[in-house]
Amino acid sequence: MSCAYNFGNAKDPIDGTGILATEKSLQSIEEVCVAKGMRMTEQRRVIARVLEAATDHPDVEELYRRASAVDPHISIATVYRTVKLFEDAGVIARHDFGAGRSRYEPVPDEHHDHLIDLRSGEVIEFRNEEIEALQKLIAERLGFRLVDHRLELYAVPLGAKPADER
Ligand SMILES: [Zn+2]
Repeated sequence: MSCAYNFGNAKDPIDGTGILATEKSLQSIEEVCVAKGMRMTEQRRVIARVLEAATDHPDVEELYRRASAVDPHISIATVYRTVKLFEDAGVIARHDFGAGRSRYEPVPDEHHDHLIDLRSGEVIEFRNEEIEALQKLIAERLGFRLVDHRLELYAVPLGAKPADER
């Protein structure tokens, strides 16, 4: 949830850097899981905390690396199962970002979209009110009420050589 850029939102004027302060979830993953009646083992708690601390949308292997640094008894199978459990419970969001491996983040309090730097794999979060409004308008013109959307921009830094594009 770091690197959140916000464009054209009157409530959150860009402060010159264009970067908003990280918005921390009101409830932790652990709290939400407990509220949903899930049994929170110590290993699940470690994985929940690792997910919460992450700002880079890690994949399962990366989550495993970080979780096993905290508790060496955690297996990658446990990380897979736990991530699936959290995802099914709607506590974390899964993204594909085109690289053939799922990446995860806690479900944010406020919607954001993603730009993926194809060269570095870095994921940048942003929100643009014009895009939000336009998507709603397009859905309405097609006879629908928009309830959700996902937008992923795949990009290379300005000035990057064509070889960097996939
Ligand atoms: Zn994100």
